[in-house]
Amino acid sequence: MRAFVSIDLDAISHNIAQIKGKTDAKILAVVKADAYGHGLIPISKCALESGVDWLGVALLEEALELRKAGISVPIIAWLTPPGEDFKEALISDIDLSVSSVLLFEEILEAARDLQAKPRLHFEIDTGMRRGGVLDEWDDFLDFAIKHKDEYELVGFWSHFARADEPDSNMNQKQREKFERMLNLLIENGLHPQIVHLSNSAATLTQPAAHHQMIRLGIAMYGLSPDVKTMAPASKYELKPAMTVRAQLHLVKSAHTGDAVGYGGTAILKRDTKLGVVVMGYSDGLPRATSNDVGVLHGEAKAPLVGRISMDQCVVDLGPDSLAQAGDYVTVMGGDGYSIDAWAAASGTINYEIVTRIASRVPRIYSR
Ligand SMILES: *Cc1c(COP(=O)(O)O)cnc(C)c1O
Repeated sequence: MRAFVSIDLDAISHNIAQIKGKTDAKILAVVKADAYGHGLIPISKCALESGVDWLGVALLEEALELRKAGISVPIIAWLTPPGEDFKEALISDIDLSVSSVLLFEEILEAARDLQAKPRLHFEIDTGMRRGGVLDEWDDFLDFAIKHKDEYELVGFWSHFARADEPDSNMNQKQREKFERMLNLLIENGLHPQIVHLSNSAATLTQPAAHHQMIRLGIAMYGLSPDVKTMAPASKYELKPAMTVRAQLHLVKSAHTGDAVGYGGTAILKRDTKLGVVVMGYSDGLPRATSNDVGVLHGEAKAPLVGRISMDQCVVDLGPDSLAQAGDYVTVMGGDGYSIDAWAAASGTINYEIVTRIASRVPRIYSR
């Protein structure tokens, strides 16, 4: 196997246990985007075994995949554009999020045909200006009241824009708006069963935002929501679950002054041994990555040299390296360069690094 992602399921269980120690709320495990690149079904099963109560995904097809795998706990899909197959969603008992009258109408229409009662979560925009009801609120509330017998109001929720900046006063503003809207709903006779607002960052830093359920994403995978504005994952006693490893395709000696890779962007400053790693940007290593990271061979760090290619990249193993073609190196995670280091070296966040490891790289699970 030229490259693989190894996933430590014990780390996932450990992280869930850590979070359980910090809140009395129910836990919804966020498993969108193939469980942040860790694998939808194995992670969902592991999370459920570790005591989470709910699963949450962005897309309806992700929710349906969970049902096909025989998972029967409540599942929310929160990003369903108009025209989605809502009948299929209702038949499969998927909870849906509604954030507009248009969507609400479409879901109730599908429900009438099936004589089903959809389980809905009202999403409101408390400040992020992305998902959720905003200007349409009065019409939305009228519609919700008028049709109150046609659906089950399961959830009421919103999302923080800056929970990873615990000192931002926007967090409190969003919480206050959320509570005002919730009270308005209740005054109008609509009583959601489960109020949920917190992502990982809010779970770790804003107990006042936990309500009845938290939506746990990045922290479950053992990563910090933001290593700059918050602490690294280790401070929260979270363990990263993902390690990426790959083989050396070639090891070769090269000389001072040699230009390496497309564009010859790196000029060797010494005679050294180069390793060609069988992983490239099509596997999810960002092409923009600087040589602040690389791979770990045994105990030795080997920084990237030159540009990352589509299927491979070149590292500087050092003149005295005993590395041989076929050896495995650790590309990220474990004792090697961390996922956070790769994120910093390519101008992005750990979320993007893990979710973009390509599906052609097999996931191997261990306990
Ligand atoms: C992705 C997502 C989460 C999880 O966010 P983390 O920062 O990974 O914990 C929670 N809620 C919603 C609506 C999301 O889209």
